[in-house]
Amino acid sequence: MNKVYDVAIVGAGAAGLFTAVHCAKRGKSVILYDKNKYPGRKLRITGKGRCNICNYSDNDNILKNIVHNEKFMYSSLNNYSANDLIKFFNDNGVKTKVERGNRVFPQSDDAMEIIELFKKLIKDLNIEFKNESTVKDLEKKEDLFKIISNSGVDYAKNLVIACGGMSYKVTGSNGDGYKLAQKFGHSIKPIKASLVAMNTSLSKEDRLELMGLSLRNVEVKVINKKKKIIFNEFGEMLFTHFGISGPIILSASSYMKDDEDYTIYLDLKPALNEEQLDNKLLILFEEEHLKSIGKILENLLPKKLINIFLKNIDLDYYKKACDITKLERTAIINNLKHFNLKYDSLRDIDEAIITAGGVNVKEIDPKTMESKLVNKLYIVGEVLDIDALTGGYNLQIAFSTAYQAAMSIE
Ligand SMILES: Cc1cc2nc3c(=O)[nH]c(=O)nc-3n(C[C@H](O)[C@H](O)[C@H](O)COP(=O)(O)OP(=O)(O)OC[C@H]3O[C@@H](n4cnc5c(N)ncnc54)[C@H](O)[C@@H]3O)c2cc1C
Repeated sequence: MNKVYDVAIVGAGAAGLFTAVHCAKRGKSVILYDKNKYPGRKLRITGKGRCNICNYSDNDNILKNIVHNEKFMYSSLNNYSANDLIKFFNDNGVKTKVERGNRVFPQSDDAMEIIELFKKLIKDLNIEFKNESTVKDLEKKEDLFKIISNSGVDYAKNLVIACGGMSYKVTGSNGDGYKLAQKFGHSIKPIKASLVAMNTSLSKEDRLELMGLSLRNVEVKVINKKKKIIFNEFGEMLFTHFGISGPIILSASSYMKDDEDYTIYLDLKPALNEEQLDNKLLILFEEEHLKSIGKILENLLPKKLINIFLKNIDLDYYKKACDITKLERTAIINNLKHFNLKYDSLRDIDEAIITAGGVNVKEIDPKTMESKLVNKLYIVGEVLDIDALTGGYNLQIAFSTAYQAAMSIE
């Protein structure tokens, strides 16, 4: 029989690499598989190529930014916090910096520095990296795992599934991890795109007119069909050729389901209440009473938005301020405070930054990342049913769960 490794790890993304490094540091023999030629294919595109490694904040804040199953993360964050992660990179020669929102990046602004570090560690720690090796099947016979990949059959005492989610499939994370976990009896919570842009039902003409418009300091409110507000936050958004995107829209998507109807309202003037807006309009109407309402609204809105804004309330762009009725003024105010973004659907999972859903965490011991169903099987990273908002939290989940497993493997 071939050599028996202490640990076999499927997937050389953030979670798989971190598990491999920490197992090898503990003297374990490690074999690490990835479909790609090089490790960390997705890591390379994180943070727009700069890699937002983590968020320089305490565990309470990190937990607040985890959307699903944050309680599961208590133990692994306690064992491996953002401080530990920053120290790991600094000790290994990657200088880091903290930017807006406590986002931590390599000082070089280059995700490749992280990849190069992992490549070096793979070499220095004698981790056997099987590149271009897709793991097709896994079995457990007696006390050994059998790993069947397109480069042969290997055996290991411990097995780690670190295959990632299903978004950006070109990076290799195409959902294999779910099937491999299912082989051992694990259940999979429904998979859904998260941190993803949205399609709107506006006409193509209107979408193109709005395309490129970016709005700051707006308030987005998402209401479900039971009229419950499921998301309400301030921030920045962007109109695109298909609909809407930008930080606040991506965050909202984390709270939405694939197959449900939602109404998304935008408060275009969150700093002013209805009464203040009415007073403002009255003053503008008095000062510029012969001007068209379209022109007057330039005092309150970006030009690109005005046509569609007026179309929404059936008001003629050229109607003079002095001819606007009280009813029409009320409609303007209502539209400023509750501008309907005409939500249609979430964009495809392939465009999502993260996959929500995944291996049911009830079947995993949060203190060790070991499967409760199969001894010595560990599951880490995005393949688990845990997801967080943007800001470095998702990589923190991958690294902390990886560390937790690496320290528990006997
Ligand atoms: C565009 C983009 C930007 C992002 N930016 C950030 C950011 O700045 N900060 C942040 O915190 N998070 C970011 N994320 C999220 C973050 O990248 C992921 O949460 C993280 O990479 C998950 O790590 P993972 O190791 O679990 O999975 P992955 O990184 O997806 O790695 C899984 C690996 O498993 C391999 N694999 C899968 N199946 C098999 C198989 N059958 N055989 C062999 N190998 C297999 C894949 O090839 C892949 O390399 C971003 C995501 C995207 C898409």
